[in-house]
Amino acid sequence: MVDPANGVPVQSFPQLHKARQPDTFGSHMTLTEKVLARAAGEARVQPGDNIWVTADVLMTHDVCGPGTIGVFKREFGEKARVWDSRKVVIIPDHYIFTADSKSNRNVDILREFAREQGLPYFYDVIDDPNGKWVFDASKGMMRRQHGTRYAGVCHAALPEKGHTRPGEVLFGTDSHTCMAGAFNQFATGIGNTDAGFVMGTGKLLIKVPATIHFHLEGQMRPGIMAKDVILHSIGEIGFDGATYQAMQFDGPGAASLSIDDRMTIANMAIEAGGKNGIFEFDAQTKAFVDYRCQLNGTKSAYEPVSRDAQESFARELAIDLSRLEPTVACHPDPGQRKLAKELGNIKLDRAYLGSCTGGKTTDFLAFARVVQDRRVTIDTFGVPATPEIVHDLQTARWGDRTVWQILVDAGVQMTENAGCAACLGGPVDTFGRMNQPLKCISATNRNFPGRMGHKESQVFLASPATVAASAITGHITDPREYLG
Ligand code: SF4
Repeated sequence: MVDPANGVPVQSFPQLHKARQPDTFGSHMTLTEKVLARAAGEARVQPGDNIWVTADVLMTHDVCGPGTIGVFKREFGEKARVWDSRKVVIIPDHYIFTADSKSNRNVDILREFAREQGLPYFYDVIDDPNGKWVFDASKGMMRRQHGTRYAGVCHAALPEKGHTRPGEVLFGTDSHTCMAGAFNQFATGIGNTDAGFVMGTGKLLIKVPATIHFHLEGQMRPGIMAKDVILHSIGEIGFDGATYQAMQFDGPGAASLSIDDRMTIANMAIEAGGKNGIFEFDAQTKAFVDYRCQLNGTKSAYEPVSRDAQESFARELAIDLSRLEPTVACHPDPGQRKLAKELGNIKLDRAYLGSCTGGKTTDFLAFARVVQDRRVTIDTFGVPATPEIVHDLQTARWGDRTVWQILVDAGVQMTENAGCAACLGGPVDTFGRMNQPLKCISATNRNFPGRMGHKESQVFLASPATVAASAITGHITDPREYLG
C-alpha cells in the first residue's frame, strides 16, 4: 500500500493508516504545537506559523560552541552578557580525548567564556578552571583522562544533569538535540548563528512543524530493542520522510518503553529529517525528571503537555512493536532498512557500541547479555556516553564479575573516556575511528559516507544486541540466535 499523501509505501497496519491533506489542520494541537504555543505566548498555533519562541535552555558543545560565542560577541558586543546564565548549558564532548591542538583549543575557548560569563552549567573536562587539558600518553585512550565535572555526550548528559523538563523548549547546536523529546519537550538542533542570537536574547523565530503520528502498539519481544523501533520507523518513511516535521510517538507501545528506549527513538528523529521527536509525559517521565533535577539542584518546576482528544496530523502510522524483528540500516543512509537475518552475507571488520543513541547503561547491558562468556572475533570498541555510565558498568555485578569485566573478558576494548569518540569520526587519533575503508556494525545513529572516519568505510546501524551478535560471528547476525 502507498501513502496517498506522498507516495511512500506503508507496510505496517495499513488499516490504521490514513493521511490528511495540509488544509485540514484543525484547532486541536499536537504535543509539539502545544509546547510551541505556550513558548510563544499564543493560545493556538498551527503548522506553518512563524512564531517567536522563548527558550528554556540553550545547549552548546566544543564543536559549535566557539562559533556560537563568536556570533554572540560579534552581534551583541565583546562585553555582552548571555540572556540568562542559568539557561546556557555548555558540554564539551566531541573532540576531547585527542592530542589534536585545534580540538583542545576549542575546549579552552569554552572554558574562558564560561569563566568570563560565570556560567554554572559548564561541564568542563578538567577541574581547574584556569588549567588546560593535556593528553597523558601513559594513560592512553582507555584509562580515564578527565576531571570530576566532566559530563560526557551532551544529549545523555542533559537529562542526567537535570536540564530536560517536560513542556519546555530546548535549543542545542547539535542535530541530535531532538533526543530530549523523550521527556515531553520540544527539543531541536539549531545552527551557530541562531544559537548566537538565542544566547543574547533567549528567543528564536521558528516555523511550527506539522506532525507525523507514530501510534505504537504491542510490546517488544526478546532480542528487539528501541533501536529496531526507530530504524523500522525511518524505513517506513525514508531518511527524508519527516523533513521539517515533528515525529510524535505515543500509544500503549510507547507507554511500555523505558526512558532509555524513548531517548533512543527521539534521538533519531533527525535521521528521517525530523524537526523534533516527542513522547507523552507519564509517571516514568516524572520519576526520572524529578529525581535528576533534585539530585543536581536544577529547576524542578515544569508543566507537561498532554494530548488533545483530536489532533491534526500530517500523516499517521501505526507500528506493532510485537511484530518487529532485529533491523539494520545499511550503508549509506539511515533509511536503508533491512532485517538482520537477511544480511548474514555481509562480513564485518569492526563493531562499535557507543554514542548518545547507543552508549547508555541499558545498551551496554543488552550487549553484555549476548557476549557474556563468549568472545568477539572482530575489533570491537565500547564507548559509554557518560562517566556515570562508566561507573554503572564498573560497579554492577553479574555473579563474581562486574559488567565492565564481562565486556573486557569478551574481548571488547572498553574506554573510560566517555564521549562522542568515533561516532563522528574525529581527529585521526580518536578511539575507535575508522582510518581505513572498513565495514563496521554500529549502535550509533548516522551512517552517511565518512561519518565514522574513512570516506570509503561502510557503517551498518543496528541495536546493541545485534551489534553484539555480529561482533561474535564477524558478519551481520540476528541476536536472537544467542538469546535462546
Ligand atoms: S555521540 Fe555521535 S550523534 Fe551523539 S552527539 Fe556525539 S557525535 Fe553526535
